[in-house]
Amino acid sequence: MTDSDLSAVIQAGLEDSFAYDKLGELCDTVGARLAGSDGYERAVAWAQSVMKEAGCDSVWTEPVTVPHWTRGREWGRVLGPVPFDLDLCAIGLSDGTGDRDIEAEVLAVRDFDELERRADEAAGKIVLFDPPWEGYGKTVRYRVGGASAAARCGAVACLIRSVTDRSLGAPHTGMMRYADDAPRIPIAAVTVENAARLHRMCERGLEPRVRLHLEARNRGEVINHNVIGEIRGSEKPEEIILVGGHLDSWDLATGAHDDGTGVTLALAAARMQLQQGRRPRRTIRVVFYACEEMGGYGGRAYLEAHRQELDRHVLVIESDGGGFAPRGFSVQADSAVVARVAALTAPLAMLAPDHWTVRPGHSGVDVGPLAEAGVPGIGHRVDGSGYFALHHSAADTYDKVDPGEMSANTAAIAGLIHAVDRLDEPLSRNGTTGGE
Ligand SMILES: [Zn+2]
Repeated sequence: MTDSDLSAVIQAGLEDSFAYDKLGELCDTVGARLAGSDGYERAVAWAQSVMKEAGCDSVWTEPVTVPHWTRGREWGRVLGPVPFDLDLCAIGLSDGTGDRDIEAEVLAVRDFDELERRADEAAGKIVLFDPPWEGYGKTVRYRVGGASAAARCGAVACLIRSVTDRSLGAPHTGMMRYADDAPRIPIAAVTVENAARLHRMCERGLEPRVRLHLEARNRGEVINHNVIGEIRGSEKPEEIILVGGHLDSWDLATGAHDDGTGVTLALAAARMQLQQGRRPRRTIRVVFYACEEMGGYGGRAYLEAHRQELDRHVLVIESDGGGFAPRGFSVQADSAVVARVAALTAPLAMLAPDHWTVRPGHSGVDVGPLAEAGVPGIGHRVDGSGYFALHHSAADTYDKVDPGEMSANTAAIAGLIHAVDRLDEPLSRNGTTGGE
């Protein structure tokens, strides 16, 4: 095996449209696929057939217990002093407003600190969090924990500014969690535009009143499935390179970038190992995970089901940042392994001149549990500048995906798999090289 083999894989990936074509099929014939929904069942059937079509030697499903949450109808209206309709969406796992709508005055705050200072004003009100965008990791805290923080101060419902850096009038959903020590009140996201206007109304002393009708409902648990396809290795079939993404999506759109691109790229990259008469030395296992969006259930279930064969996994790869132009890899492994992966994949830098980096970091929500258990983990990185404008909103659709970028991503992930597969000895397992 030589660098010219890797170049051939890169070139074949750049000419391959399998991921882009299958993503179109997923978005148009399956559609939205929220955990627990009929759409998710359609997605499982589609996934099994597309894995066989891609050349997997065996395809199977494994059960995952997931929360069953439904949105139902929803609306919100500012009643006065200047009435207008709110563009909103309930946050996943939120309770709804029940038999009677909730109607109350709005208390707008910038952040948790301001709520704490004004806690005695919150009783009986709808608390609106309108924090500035400070990156996803920081801003998402209001979506996850806003309802319980507001409820502790006596609020009857919670609204948040959608978690996005850019808005053209679409609300963004996502998941939340109820704390054990607070009453369960409903939470919805309003658009950035609506949040700003409500906030300004409060600052002008207009005391806006809002009516909320949210039919969101928690309905217990159901069984969904991870879908797994395997291409058997020719020389070391007992060693597994796992590549995957999550099959579920939010319900507001067809989950094109999140994470339709991830699953179709994983499968396309595995399929590339079979092109032009090649066959991988190791087994390539493609995993489409269930219910990442409402709490990472598929990833944890996979780890539990495969603990006995954990040692057989030599590398796990995940793509869940959208299908934009490739930028490199984020490696969850000891520093010696990060450097090794960077060197092995150096020819891939041609896919993103001036931008390509291989750096230490998290692998992904679904393969993270395996990386923490010792398997080197790699996250596929892309240009994220356009991601959060679409993320978890009605705008995350197929027309936002670029076919050329999907081919470049196929080349990146296929090249990574190929570069590691040609090593005689697998990468060192996490925590075994004795160094940071
Ligand atoms: Zn995702």
